[in-house]
Amino acid sequence: MNYAIAPSPTISLPISGSEQRFPIRRIFCIGRNYADHAREMGATVDKETPLFFCKPADAVVTDGAPLPYPQATADLHHEVEMVVALGGGGKDIAPDQAKALIWGYGVGLDLTRRDLQAIAKAKSHPWDVAKGFDHSAPVSALLPASRAEPAKGTMLRLSVNGSVRQQAPLGEMVHSIEEIIAALSKLFELKAGDLIFTGTPAGVAALHRGDSFHAELEGIATLDGTVI
Ligand code: MN
Repeated sequence: MNYAIAPSPTISLPISGSEQRFPIRRIFCIGRNYADHAREMGATVDKETPLFFCKPADAVVTDGAPLPYPQATADLHHEVEMVVALGGGGKDIAPDQAKALIWGYGVGLDLTRRDLQAIAKAKSHPWDVAKGFDHSAPVSALLPASRAEPAKGTMLRLSVNGSVRQQAPLGEMVHSIEEIIAALSKLFELKAGDLIFTGTPAGVAALHRGDSFHAELEGIATLDGTVI
């Protein structure tokens, strides 16, 4: 192929215990999927109509790369989330067919420019500039679903500078993984390589330059990084 400019590189994640990489196609995120986080944001969970937004694939930060503090904000927030990687896709997927599409699991941060999000909410603007900025999606190595399955009791946890900031079992998710995949597939044709951020529990707060974070999906994935 004779491209007019150099094509963008394929963005990928490491895979635990493997030399292979997982190539990323798109990043979908659900908002307000833990009741206590929705409450701390002054919002409520809408069980009927989940709130979705997207990040560009090249927002991913992985392999222990340092996290540059983003431009255009004075209030960068962490949101620790389970990340689901799809190995298959489709449209109008039934919830009981969704699990078979999951390739693996990881843990990530849905980084948010909270000040820009507050302005967007006040003006009924979209959330793109608050959510889809450069380096806004640190993600761990993935663990293939064939090697581990998260359960309702699996803990999702984030520590910053050694202090626990966010901690909850996955059972607190309002929309299950299967329900999220089914709902997304009514809006988009899902494809292998898509990542889904599955929402954050309470305790979101600011990250500053120099902060070190440790995110964990118990028994499945860990993510360590430093804000520079
Ligand atoms: Mn989030």
